[in-house]
Amino acid sequence: MEEINPSVKDILDALYEWAPAELALSWDNPGQTIGDPGRQVKKICCALDISLSTIDFAKTQGAQLLVTHHPILISPIKSVLEDAVVGKRIIESISGGISIISLHTNLDAAKDGVNDLLSELFDVKGPAPVEDSDGANILRIGQLDPPRRLDQLLAEVKEKLGCQAVFYTGKQDQVVSRLAICGGSGGSYWQLAKENGADCLLTGEVRHHDALDARDAGFSIVGAGHFETELPIVKRMAEFLNEKAAGNNWDIEVYTFSSEASPIEIFY
Ligand SMILES: [Zn+2]
Repeated sequence: MEEINPSVKDILDALYEWAPAELALSWDNPGQTIGDPGRQVKKICCALDISLSTIDFAKTQGAQLLVTHHPILISPIKSVLEDAVVGKRIIESISGGISIISLHTNLDAAKDGVNDLLSELFDVKGPAPVEDSDGANILRIGQLDPPRRLDQLLAEVKEKLGCQAVFYTGKQDQVVSRLAICGGSGGSYWQLAKENGADCLLTGEVRHHDALDARDAGFSIVGAGHFETELPIVKRMAEFLNEKAAGNNWDIEVYTFSSEASPIEIFY
């Protein structure tokens, strides 16, 4: 059977089978935001963020499409100017002939998305979605199997996610058996996690006041970094697209931006 080149819209439809747009939070902006939906795709680059270096990587690969987790546009903008941060990214993408698709909080909530993948990575068995007050199902809670001490979990998180440092609140000798998981900025979910029977929350970013309140409530939070907790999904995105390509006879090449780095560095 002859191989075909899908359009950007074909790729978006396939990605929505995995992470339907309806799963996204109300303020979010998943989907295609840049380019021509009808454009034929031969090469796709997958990345976490849309930075100038991501766009540059996509251009170097000769890609027509960039698939990312974080969207390029969330807040409305009133101009697209070369000397503004977002404006320059938009201009660089369009001038490079690169369309952009992002799967954001819909992929956090999706089955086998960001948080199911983290659950799998840390041996959390039967991760169940927990609905928040906005009706979103981003948080997961499951059984850490086998249960382990917080200090062991911290070491494991640091190693598996390649973190330079891991922030936490709680007692290192506490045994964690029900672990809540939320990649990215999930620190404010600690209370919901506690109410639903978790004894620790693994997330990316934790704000001071959430840590302060959690400590007084005897609840542990592990903050492994926004970038670090979400990066594993990029490889999964590429795997998903390759599976779809095989199933649909698509003639595409999929790359991941392997040298993508967190914008936050640590000075020791
Ligand atoms: Zn994020």
